[in-house]
Amino acid sequence: MVGGARTMTTAIGMGKHGARAIDAYLDGARYEAPPKHPPISFQMLDLPVYLESIRHAQQELPLAARASFAEVVQGLSQDEGQAEAGRCLSCGNCFECDNCFAACPEQAIVRLGRGRGYRVDRDLCTGCGICFEQCPCHAIEMKAESQPTSGPLGTIGEPLAPHSFRVRV
Ligand code: SF4
Ligand code: SF4
Repeated sequence: MVGGARTMTTAIGMGKHGARAIDAYLDGARYEAPPKHPPISFQMLDLPVYLESIRHAQQELPLAARASFAEVVQGLSQDEGQAEAGRCLSCGNCFECDNCFAACPEQAIVRLGRGRGYRVDRDLCTGCGICFEQCPCHAIEMKAESQPTSGPLGTIGEPLAPHSFRVRV
């Protein structure tokens, strides 16, 4: 069951790569797959944000009826399959829930449109980390600046934008 789900997600992922490669080819370019982000563990998810959703069990033929080549596991209906897809936790991948957009006190997160994710306006961002805390699936990564900031300083000399970060989509 788990192996089947993994095979399915792998197939969908390869399909997306294929579609992007064809799109790039038709544009006369070459598609380069973006680097993979590190794995996101279960502990890194903000679980209370997700709704509880019961897994749909597939019906199975009773033992007494398994004397033919009929499928034993009966599969899911279309509605059940869509409901199962909706249970995906989207670990590490932005699913455009808008939490970060709504939570940012500086309006530094810019919506790029459905399916295109978000951009962070570094001129407005103070590096407060609220978006990072609000993201249910750990799609936001915050990185400490490697160099001392040359940006504005606060009342006690603290850098006002001490982090750089990116939103993975
Ligand atoms: S870290 Fe930047 S983008 Fe995120 S909530 Fe704070 S100000 Fe907004
Ligand atoms: S980065 Fe996270 S919080 Fe922001 S829209 Fe995507 S999933 Fe939601």
